[in-house]
Order: sequence, then structure tokens, then C-alpha cells
Amino acid sequence: DVSPLQNLTSLTELHLWENEISDVSPLRNLPNLTTLHLGHNAISYLQDQWFNRDIDFKWETKSPFPGDVSGVVMEGNPLEYPPPEIIQEGEEAIQSYLESLKGERLPLNEARVLLVGDGGAGKTSLMKRLLGDPFDEDESQTHGINIREWDIELSSSDGNAEDETFRAHLWDFGGQEIMHATHQFFLSKRSLYIVVLDGRRDEKPEYWLKHVQSFGGQSPVLVLLNKQDENPGHDVERKSLRRKYPNILGFYPLSCRTDDGLAELRRVIEDTLADLDMRRTPFAENWGNVKSQLADIGEDYIHLDGFKGICCEEGITDHHAQQTLLSFLDRLGIVLYFEDFELPDTQVLKPEWLTNAVYDVINAPIVAENNGELPLSAVSSILDCPPEEQRFVIGMMKKFELCYEVDDERVLIPDLLPKQEPNHPFDLSEPSHYYIEYDFLPPSLLPRFTVQSYREIEVPWRSGVLLRDPTFNAEALITADEADRRISIWVDGDRKREYFATLRKRLRDLHADFEELGEVEWVPLPKDPEYAVEYEELLGLEQMGESSYTHGKTRERYRVAELLNGVIKPEDREVQDAEPEDREIHMHVEQRQDVQQTSEQRQTSVQKTNISVEVKNENVQHFSGTLSLLREDFRDAIGDEQKRDRIENELDRVEGALKQIEEEGDPEQAKRSAAVKRLKAFVENLGDKGTQIGNAIQTIDNGIKHAQNLAKYYNSIAQWCGWPQVPKPLL
Ligand code: GDP
Ligand code: MG
Repeated sequence: DVSPLQNLTSLTELHLWENEISDVSPLRNLPNLTTLHLGHNAISYLQDQWFNRDIDFKWETKSPFPGDVSGVVMEGNPLEYPPPEIIQEGEEAIQSYLESLKGERLPLNEARVLLVGDGGAGKTSLMKRLLGDPFDEDESQTHGINIREWDIELSSSDGNAEDETFRAHLWDFGGQEIMHATHQFFLSKRSLYIVVLDGRRDEKPEYWLKHVQSFGGQSPVLVLLNKQDENPGHDVERKSLRRKYPNILGFYPLSCRTDDGLAELRRVIEDTLADLDMRRTPFAENWGNVKSQLADIGEDYIHLDGFKGICCEEGITDHHAQQTLLSFLDRLGIVLYFEDFELPDTQVLKPEWLTNAVYDVINAPIVAENNGELPLSAVSSILDCPPEEQRFVIGMMKKFELCYEVDDERVLIPDLLPKQEPNHPFDLSEPSHYYIEYDFLPPSLLPRFTVQSYREIEVPWRSGVLLRDPTFNAEALITADEADRRISIWVDGDRKREYFATLRKRLRDLHADFEELGEVEWVPLPKDPEYAVEYEELLGLEQMGESSYTHGKTRERYRVAELLNGVIKPEDREVQDAEPEDREIHMHVEQRQDVQQTSEQRQTSVQKTNISVEVKNENVQHFSGTLSLLREDFRDAIGDEQKRDRIENELDRVEGALKQIEEEGDPEQAKRSAAVKRLKAFVENLGDKGTQIGNAIQTIDNGIKHAQNLAKYYNSIAQWCGWPQVPKPLL
């Protein structure tokens, strides 16, 4: 109960996450509130008054610093009004949504039900039985996607006697593994998932459960044990599965042939749908009309102008409102809309059309005959649509990273590559340089990685790829082991560490597209490579100021920095918590990695030596690079021309100071120079909100991060000429 807080009118900041708060209306009149963190509570409704105030709503906070959050944060709440989709879109979307609801409003009463499972498990049969179609002994294999509508009468959500019609969109996915990569773009949050297991086979239910966990967010999951007529009593380890996948609502034995269990299942589905918070999301009547019109359109796709036309007919003329409605429909899975798609005519289209077209391309015999390569001249014989749409399909496949361009005439489809590993210079029985273990290794991860590396590809095959980069003059081998759920990287060549760092970053950026992969990075131990240490463990040790890592089993001791340096360059590590001395040591290890010394010797010699000119200049470069980023960000963010000019001038002066410092070869000389002084004053001002630059830093997205980096680089430069470091709080 937050009502006792309502009289504390001077409150400016409130952090209330992870409570069981359901009603925040008492807080809405606190006049001075600028920050309200409400994440992970039980709030389903926000009154309109909240949005008349001058306070920003956001769904989630990306900032790692709690003090940085401003506005109201809502993530992790079962919000029905306004829906999370709208909050995520931002202030303008919220206003359009509220505006749209000033007229007639209806509950949305619509959601997706996604049927997933291996081919042959009975998904199509189940869909038919749910819709009242007869069971077919010889149900043919589903190609692509089947989508059908199922209208259900549910008792009214607000307790009125009148029943409401709920429209479930049943999505039945074809089982071919090759299509899973396409499916992932349709597996949405806020749906109901039904995982269908085939009772006749020795089933591995976790593959699908993990898929759903990765893409489905908090969506509820029902697990069906089908074909009980043939295999009565077939079951899975319910308790342990439920522990691992808490979104499982229950397990339901079923036979689509005899209908045993069907009535019970139907009841469970209805109850679950009735409980979905999505169901009660209010939708303006005219927004609903646009939605139904789109659903009834016979075309496979419409052009954006067509969509806007329909909106205008319904009186939705505001550009933001149209945009908001479109992305909302996209999240509902009613249309697909690819905002950033670079083909000239952005289109709104039906998911079945696209999936089925992709399916046809992937399964065309010519692709198999060519080891995964598709001549673009063959597309017209595969797809029965105008050339413009053919290009669109191939464009989509590129966007989905199902294929990539080899040259103007051919594309390659990684999923159709040869299975056999080719000859290459790496010895795979040797331990890899580094590997990642996953709780869930999505089948699309390696293909997507391959596609993103296409400029460097030497030989690709189904479970690996050999890359070569001329700038680093290095080669790399990346393999994916499905059974061990592991991706391993071997690198060799001149600048192998830098190449490795690039590859690792590429892989980690890809991870961000998935949720809950449960990835753990491992660094094999150089002296006993069959053992490895977690990368995070090393980072933690480094941040705690521990310099050595002891492996008891092999009775070996390693330098933490050395193990880490094999994976990531010191300057790329987060050194926020590290002591300045540590930083100096890393830089020297970098410089002297070829010199054989014991770690103890190295440590002492480093502490005695001054930082070298190269290291200083490297940091000057980093400093100047960060400064340019900052300059660009300011240009974008600061509207006031005079203010912008003043800041630009200041940055110019700092740039000039940097040049002088770079030319300076003698630390003693530099120590007395005005340039260093200027640099120091600049960096200190960054952390001081009272100064013009410090104030401006607060207003841009990456401001704090830039400031921290600048302070970090400054400290290294200052060290060189024996100047005092800037204080830790800024770091
Ligand atoms: P899907 O690939 O998951 O869509 O599976 P289908 O619905 O196409 O079913 C695959 C095969 O299993 C078909 O031959 C169905 O007739 C059969 N089948 C589906 N459900 C049952 C069931 O409950 N019992 C039996 N005996 N066969 C079933
Ligand atoms: Mg099927």
C-alpha cells in the first residue's frame, strides 16, 4: 500500500521495484516527482492523469546506474492499460493511444496461439480438432505456416452477464528444421504457446521449451502429450521441466484421433486466454476497424500508402497514431511491418505469404543441387509472383539472414550448406582458443554469424566456417557443436588477438538478439587446455584486485591479466573498479607480451617504470576518438545554437591541447605544459554538473559513458607526465 506516501509532497525520487504494488494512484499527485522506478510490481492499470504530467514513461531502463534513471519505469508489470507495446514506443505513442481512446473503446480480445513441436507430432491435427474439422489419418506435412482463426465465446472480462467473443489466431508451424530460423521472427511475446509432443517417439521436449523460453518472454505454455491412443501413459518428467520452465501451466495427455483429453484441453485454453492481460487492452473502435479490415484483405501484402489510406478512412489521420497502430498490429502478429527495410516500397503483409515464399525458395531442388547456392536467375521459376515481389522475398531472406549475397548473381543459404567439414589448417583435436557454452544454442546462431562474416568467408559448412581477414592477416575457425551446445573459436595469424576480439564482439552482439541463451564464456588454461576458467571469474578477480588465478586440480597458477589478455584487450575491459596501478600494469603487459619474464619480475619492473611514450600516445588517440564521438552526440542533441557553438569551441581547444601533448616526448616538459592543465580542467568539468560541459554531458544518452572513458584515458596520460589523477568518483 503506497497511500502513506501521498502526503510527502517534497519527494523527487522513489525506487519501488520488486514489491507487490498494484495500485499507484496515490502517487500520481506528488508534485515534485521526477523519478519513479516501479519495475516488477503488480500494476495493471495507470490512470490517464499520469500522462498529463510532465514526466516521461518508459518500459525499461538500460542504464546500469540507478541514479541515472529519470521518469517512470514500468518493466515487469502485467500492464493492461496502457499496454507495454505503447509505453515502449515512447511519449508520442502514448499520447496518440490515449487520444484514440477518447471515442468508443472496446477490449482487444485477440491473441495468438502458437503451436510448436517436431514435424509429425500432431500440431495440424490438433488445430483441426480445435476448430471442429475431422481428424485425418494421413495428415500431410505442413509447409511453412498455417494460420487460422478460432472464435471463442468467453465470459465477459468485466463480470457483465454478456459474453465476449475472443479471437484466437492459431499459428501452426511446419516442422522442418530449416524453417526454424524463419519462425523465430514470428514467435512473439504475449501469446499462448502450445508445445505438442509425439507420444510415440522418444521425445526431447526441451528443444521446444527452450525455443519458447527464448522468444516468448513471460507467455504461458501448455505441454501436450499427443497420440495417447497409440502410446497410453506416455509422459515426461513434469516436475523437473516445470522447475526449469516456470511458464509451463500444465501437461495434458491427448489423442487427436479419439478426442480423449480434447474437452479438458479446450477448457484450459479458454481459461488461459481469458486470463491473458492482452485481452483487456482497450482498443479504440476505429483502430479495431482498421485491424479487421486488414484481416479481411484478400491481398498478401499491401503498400504502406494503402495502409495509411485505410487509416484515413477510419479517421486516423495523425501520422504518429498511424505509426503506433501499425507497430501495435505488428506486435500482435496481425501484420508484419519492417520499418527499417530498405526496399523502396515498405510493405505491410501477411505472414503466411512471406513464410511460404521463403519455404518455396529454400526447398527448391536447384538450391540443394548447388550445395546451398541459389542463382538469382532461377528465382522467377520458383516464385509465382511479379519480379518486384520476388526481389522482396529475397530481400527479406537477406534481412532475416537466411541467405547472403555472394555477388550480383548468386546468394548463399547457409542452412543448406554441405554437411561435411572441409579440409583446413586447424587441428580440431587441439583445444580451442576460447569457447562459449549455452543453455540454449539457437540453430540460427552459427548461420547468422556466418552471414555477418561474409566478407571473410573462406569455406562455410553446416556446422562451422573458416574465415580469413587480410587486414589482420589472420585465420579463424568457428564451429558450433549442437550436442554440446557450444561454439568454439580457433585463431591463428599475425594479429590474431585483434581478429579474435572482433569475432568475439560479433558473436556477443548477436547474442543480444536472443533472450535467455544462458551463455557462459570459457578461457582454456594454457598449461592444461583441457581445463578452462570462466571469463567472468577472471573479470571478477581482476576487479577485486587479485592478480593471480590458482587452478587447484592441476596445481597451476596463472596471472589473471595474462589469461584475460588472450581474450580481450585491456583497454576494452571495463576498468571502472580497477585501481589505477592495475591499469598501468595491463598496458605494459600489452606492450611487452613478447618479452619472457616471470610475472613477479614483470610486476615490479612495471611499477618502477614510467608509462612509455607509445602508451601515452595510444591514450591520446583514444581520448581524441572519444572526443569526436562526444562532439557528434552534442551536435545531435543540443538545439540551442549558441550553446552548441560554445561547446564546440571548448572541444576545439581540448583537441589542440591533445596535439601538443602528443608531440611532447619528455614527461618532465609535459608536466609543466599548459596543455595538460587544460586537459585536466576539462575532464574535471565533465563530472561537475555546475559547468556548462558537465551539464551538457547529462543530457545525452552516452554522456556518462563518454565522460568515464575520457577520465580513464586522461589518467593514463597524466601518469606519463606525473600529473595527479582525476578522482575515482568520476570513473
Ligand atoms: P504436425 O506435423 O505436427 O502438424 O503433425 P500432423 O498433425 O500432420 O500429424 C502427423 C501424423 O500423426 C498424421 O498422420 C496424423 O494423422 C497423426 N496423428 C496426429 N495426432 C494423432 C493422434 O492423436 N493419434 C494418432 N494415432 N495419430 C495421430
Ligand atoms: Mg503440420
